[in-house]
Order: sequence, then structure tokens, then C-alpha cells
Amino acid sequence: MISEKKDIRALSKGELRDFFEGIGDKAFRGNQVYEWLWGKGIHNFDQMTNLSKETRAHLEANFVINHIQVDSLQKSNDGTIKNAVKLHDGLVVESVLIPTKKRTTACVSSQVGCSLDCKFCATARLKRMRNLNPDEIYDQVVAIDQESKLYHDRPLSNIVFMGMGEPLMNYKNVLEAIDKITHKEGLGMSPKRITLSTSGVPKMIKKLADDEVKFHLAVSLHSAIQEKREQIMPFAKSFQLVDLRESLEYWYAKTQRRITYEYVVWKGINDEKEDIEALVQFCKYVPCKVNLIEYNPIDDGEFQQASIEATETYIAALERHRIPVTVRRSRGKDIDAACGQLANKQ
Ligand code: SAH
Repeated sequence: MISEKKDIRALSKGELRDFFEGIGDKAFRGNQVYEWLWGKGIHNFDQMTNLSKETRAHLEANFVINHIQVDSLQKSNDGTIKNAVKLHDGLVVESVLIPTKKRTTACVSSQVGCSLDCKFCATARLKRMRNLNPDEIYDQVVAIDQESKLYHDRPLSNIVFMGMGEPLMNYKNVLEAIDKITHKEGLGMSPKRITLSTSGVPKMIKKLADDEVKFHLAVSLHSAIQEKREQIMPFAKSFQLVDLRESLEYWYAKTQRRITYEYVVWKGINDEKEDIEALVQFCKYVPCKVNLIEYNPIDDGEFQQASIEATETYIAALERHRIPVTVRRSRGKDIDAACGQLANKQ
């Protein structure tokens, strides 16, 4: 049931201080509560042990903590863990813990469903139901950190916004969540360990640069030819490559941080010479690296992974032009946890 009480995590630190002053208590209680909520990620008021019983009861009477609930947890045989995350209104998103030898990465969602319409992505078929709040994004990170400690004996090391949704279509909440995750009064994680992945919303990429964010940017490119990109990502009609290019030049001029292009090579779609040449050309505009992602089929439709030779031709061409390139193997495919497979199938 949805509570009538206000979610306490919608309040800023200043508002929490005001609340305590308003009830004749000391303003610094607001700081204490803020620390419990965002530094320690607690789930209920009883855990705020430096507050009196009366104060805790008073908070309980006035507020709720709309904490996420990890409903089901699926483990892949490669160690990947997928969480079905239930939100306070009953909607569900998914988040994924991806372990490698040295790191544990959290792949988090930013929207329920997605605003965009990439034809090769399972999440796109869900349509966007709503944006996630900052606390719902933050909670996914805390939950995966706990799972990492429990199952892998080490804390979470990296975060990627590559789960469900388009983070730049939920700009304010995503940035607020990242602030809580990176701030020393929050989880204190380094922004250098965070990557935001976008399908490429030029106006918002410029805004990121203006807002002087300190995390990394990845762009799902998939084709550097305008007409082709429109066919596989129809929203690209409104967000054209020329504008994307300009926004990335703007980003680089302001941040001096290179961009990662995510790219899947599909059979008969972008596995020709002209596709490779267009990508190489696009990579010359701003310092970047290319991450070739293995395709995770979502049905038996028109999208199929290209041949190994096609991928190798891409790699050779990029290397010839000294553009760093890596291949990202799928993780958690057996539990539908790989890129583009998040669709609440459970
Ligand atoms: N909306 C954001 C983040 C979510 S998708 C974005 O588009 O970047 C994370 C990555 O998975 C993107 O690079 C996306 O293009 C890719 N992806 C989507 N569906 C996929 C699939 N079926 N197989 C492989 N990668 C996929």
C-alpha cells in the first residue's frame, strides 16, 4: 500500500534541520538523520540509535522511508547476480552485480522501462512507466554493495548506469543519486568509478559538461551513419549525429575526459566497410575508446551477432588508427542479466 506520509528522503539536509527546529529540537538532529539515511543507508527509524525513542517515534509518525525491496535474486554460473528490485508502489526494476577478478560492478537502472525505442533492446519494449527517485537509485547501489561483501568478500568498486532506462531522460534524479553516492556525507565513492551510459541526448550531454560532473561518459553509438542509426534507434531522428558530435566536442573541451563508445556489430546491419569507415571517422572528433559489446539476442528477429571476422575487421581498423578498442563479453546471459536483456521476465 502506498503511504500518505512523506518520504523522508525527499527532504534536503536543510529541510531536515528545519523540521527538528520546528518541533523545538536541535537543528543538528537533522544532520544525524541525514547521516543515517545517506551515509549508512538504513531501512527504518529504529536503526537511528543516537536518537531518543521519542524522537524516533515522532519521525515514524510523520515520515516513511520508501526503501526498495530486493525481491528475487538470481545467480548466474559466471557469478553475476540479478536483482528484481520492488519499488514502494509495486513496480519492479532490475539491477545486476557483475564480478570480475579485480572488481565488482553494479549495473543500475534509472527508469522503470525506458523512454527510448532502441529496436535491439528488451527494456525498450516495456515503454517508460516512471522515473526512479534518487533514493531508489541509491538503494540499488547499497544493496549490491552488501551482496558484494556477502558473496565476494569485498565492497563494490564500480557503478555503471547501464540498467533499465535512459539516465539523461531522468537527469535531475540521476545526478542527485550520484551526489549521494559520491559525497563524503553519503557513500563516499569516487566519481571516477562511475560511468553513465546514454543513447546520446546532445542537450543533456552539454548540461553534464556545464554541471562539471566528475564521472565518466559512455555513448551507445552502434552506427556512425545517420540513416542507419535511425533505423536501429528511431529516436535518433530527433537526436542527430551532427548534434551528438557537437555535444561530445563540448563535453571534451570542458572535462578533458575521453568518451567510451558502445557498439554492437550486427550481421547485415553494420558489418560493412562503410560502417567501419564511418566509425573510424567519428572517433577522430574527440579522444575516445570503443567498447564492442557482444549482442545478447532478445528474440529471433532481425538482429543477429555479426561474424567473428566482421568484428575482427572492426578491431583491426580501429587499431590501425590508434583508437583503443575492447571487446565486452556478455555476463549473466543464462539469467537474462546481460546488456539489453533486463525486462522483468520473472
Ligand atoms: N539507455 C542507456 C543505458 C542502458 S543500455 C544507453 O542506451 O546507453 C546499456 C547498453 O546496452 C547500451 O550500450 C545499449 O545500447 C546496450 N544494449 C541494449 N540492448 C542490447 C542487446 N540486446 N545486446 C547487447 N547490448 C545491448
